[in-house]
This record gives sequence, C-alpha cells and structure tokens, in this order.
Amino acid sequence: MAGNTDLYSSFVNSGPGAFIASRVGLPQPPHLRRYSASAPALGGPVVLGGSGRLVEPIREILTAGDDYTLIENNNGGRSADKLGAAVFDATGITKAAELEQLFEFFTPVMRSAGNSARFVVLGTTPELTGSADEQIAQRALEGFTRSLGKELRNGATAQLVYVSPKAKTGLSGLESTLRFLLSAKSTYVDAQVIRVGDANGAKVGSWDKPLDGKVALVTGAARGIGATIAEVLSRDGAHVICADIPAAGEALSETANKVGGTALPLDVTADDAGAKVAEHVLERHGGLDIIVNNAGITRDKLLANMDSGRWNSVIGVNLIAPQKLVDELVERDALRKGGAVVDVSSIAGIAGNRGQTNYGASKAGVIGLVNAYAPILAKKGITINAVAPGFIETAMTAAIPLATREVGRRMNSLQQGGQTVDVAETVAYFANPASNAVTGNVVRVCGQSLLGA
Ligand code: NAD
Repeated sequence: MAGNTDLYSSFVNSGPGAFIASRVGLPQPPHLRRYSASAPALGGPVVLGGSGRLVEPIREILTAGDDYTLIENNNGGRSADKLGAAVFDATGITKAAELEQLFEFFTPVMRSAGNSARFVVLGTTPELTGSADEQIAQRALEGFTRSLGKELRNGATAQLVYVSPKAKTGLSGLESTLRFLLSAKSTYVDAQVIRVGDANGAKVGSWDKPLDGKVALVTGAARGIGATIAEVLSRDGAHVICADIPAAGEALSETANKVGGTALPLDVTADDAGAKVAEHVLERHGGLDIIVNNAGITRDKLLANMDSGRWNSVIGVNLIAPQKLVDELVERDALRKGGAVVDVSSIAGIAGNRGQTNYGASKAGVIGLVNAYAPILAKKGITINAVAPGFIETAMTAAIPLATREVGRRMNSLQQGGQTVDVAETVAYFANPASNAVTGNVVRVCGQSLLGA
C-alpha cells in the first residue's frame, strides 16, 4: 500500500522534529491509527450514552464479543482511561431544549479522548421524524458533530449517523456502519453524515472476512487508489477482477497477482466495455457482486483555455463510463442481488476547483448518479454509494507543486493527507453485504477538509 510521502509529518513526529515544531508553533499532524489484524479495533474503551431507541441494541453489540470494552461513564475524569470512543444515542431527542443532553454527555469526556478516538452521534433521519420540533432538533445534530470534529485533537474524529425511524430490528442494519466507525478503518473519515435505511442487515459469516465468496470488479486497479482498493477487498475475502487500460499491462498483472485475482485489460470508455465484463463474470463466476468505479482522469485547464478533447475525455471516463457499466451489467443480469456499486467521486465535485471545471462536473455528476440510481437499484436489492476523497498521498498528488501541495495537505482537521488505504477501507465498508441498509450515501474521505465544508 502507498508509502507516506509527507516528509513534514515524518519530521515533526520524530523526537527532535517534535521539539522544534512545538517550540516555533508549527502544526504537528497527529499519528493516525490504521487497521491491523493484530491490533484491537479501538485504542481504548468505549463510553456509551443517550436514551433513544438504539442505545440498548448498541450496548448488546459492544458487549457481545471481546472486540470492545464498554465503560459506563468516565467519572474518573482526566486520570481515567484514555477513551477509544464515545457513542451517544440522540434518537431520543425530540425538541431543541433536549439538545442540552449533547453537551452534558460530551463535555466531560472531551479531555479524555485517546489517539484516534471515535466520537459517534446517532440520530433519526430528520425528514422522516414525527414532528417539526423533532425534525429541527435532529437536524441540529449535524452542526454539532461538524463543530465537534473541528475541536477534537490527536487524530480523534466525529461522525453522525442518521438511522431511519422505520428500521425494524433495532440495530441490525446499523451494525456494519457502527463497526466501521468504531475502528481504525475510518481513520481519515471525519465529520461525515451517514444515512442508514430500514433494511435488516444481511448476516456476514465473519466481520474479518465479510466479502468471502464475493466477486468484485475494480476499474483503474493498476496503481494508486484502485490498486489499494483491490488489496483491501481481497483482504476481506473477495475474488478481485482488476481492470485497467491495456497499456497498464505489467502494473495491472502485478496488482492482480498480489491479490490473487484476475487481470482484465479494459478501457472503460470502449463501446463493448460492459459486454466484455458481463461475459467475463458470467462465464467464470456466474455473476458479479461488487463494482468499484474507480478509474478516473484529470485534464486540467482553465475554462477559458479548455478544449473539447480535455472536456470530453474527463466526462467520458469519470461519469459516462460508470453509469454505462452499471446499466449494461444490470441489463445482462450480471450483477447479483445483494450486490454493491461503489463510485469514486472527489471533493472537487463538492467544492469545485480552479482549472477543473471538467473534473468538478464529472465528479459532481457521480454524486448525481448515486442519488438517481439508489432507488432504482434498491428494487433489485443492490446498493450504490460513493466515496469522495480529499487530498490522498498518491503519484497524482505528489506531482502537485510543493506550496499548493502543502496547503492541500494541511487544510483539514487532521492536518495531513490521507493514504490510499483510507479510501479503500471506506469502499470495503460500502461493499460489505451487511451494509445493505446503506445506499445513496456520499462519504468524504478527507480528514474534514475545509474545502466545500
Ligand atoms: P491514478 O491516475 O493513480 O490511477 C487511475 C487509474 O485509472 C490508472 O491506473 C489509469 O490507467 C486508470 N484509467 C484511466 N483511464 C481509464 C480507462 N479509460 N479505462 C480503464 N482504466 C483507466 O489516480 P488515483 O489518484 O489513484 O485516483 C483514483 C480515483 O480517485 C480517480 O477516480 C480519481 O479521480 C479519484 N480521486 C483521487 C484523489 C487523489 O488525491 N489522488 C482525490 C480525489 C479523487
């Protein structure tokens, strides 16, 4: 997986570097915990609070195995254990005055957050609440959580999960989301709002290998983010078909070999791309479970200097191809029920970026694709979601001139760029069959970037 090219972070996290940085007041990006099979999900115990409909089911999950240590409160104050997570069920809040519960719960634990601690607020989808007062109070949770994300230090993050009030079996559809957020896998996901619907969560044999027996296609898998997505999906048990342009040749075979998958030379913009994938998966695997539309290009130019070649190639690869691929696979019955489509958008599609009118349009279009297709694919039992990466340490971002690169890298709550694995872990969360109640979401993997916030 990609190495860290952030020399500044390495320097200020070294002994002498940290000393100098703190002396002269330079930013000191925290070390972020990342997933390791041998390390616990969290760096410390979880404190749970709130009195809504989810708190008891959450307690059951947190106490069921030995994945988490639940503590009732943190009355020990600063000398108590450094917290791994603080989870608050705010679904019981039905009017603005009751928002007071938030500060009553979180204020005493703010100074007890350990490195990469996870703060999670759970609410009810505002538009689906029973009254105007409840809708207002639930909507307020978003501003609270986003501000909380900006106050947390030492790699701690804050997220909000809205759960449909129609969710029948307590926590079932929420478990995969909760497990993702209460782990090192979500380390660069910060201040996001995830909406969980009312479907009962599908059972997975094991939370370590949730993709066992699944077949996944990753486009643009020869290098960068796509290669890491292939690795993580394979780690989680999937057979991965790695697709990239024929010119990617050797690099593509390397990824495929590394993950024990298959290399499929494929230009996603070719007229027969969908037919080729359908034929491949139907013949060899009887179908496909996961599509990750990751292949993407940039052809930057100020709009005043834009030419049709640059415009059309970016829209063609980044937006038209992902839609056509899904259409063709669905039409040919190659995408199985219970399947997942994960698209790769970008914060440039949310905030816009100078010199990237073509790219920004394509990546905002991907968000439109997710919104439009979620209800259509839901009828077939298929989910569609997108990740929107911020500044990720790749060959692409290493090529940005130093000053611009430093600004992009530091302008977020975690004061550093993300790693390709951070995007890949979020893709794997969406691809998990137990995430079947999660569709139509766009989750930014940006460390709470100030851009488009
Ligand atoms: P990358 O250029 O390193 O890799 C992209 C891969 O896509 C390449 O292997 C390329 O050959 C392949 N590809 C390009 N056109 C193709 C086509 N027509 N058919 C098949 N494959 C094709 O880029 P990356 O940084 O790994 O980006 C991956 C995705 O993440 C892209 O969609 C990109 O827009 C998005 N993204 C990246 C960042 C970042 O910081 N790196 C930020 C936001 C979004």
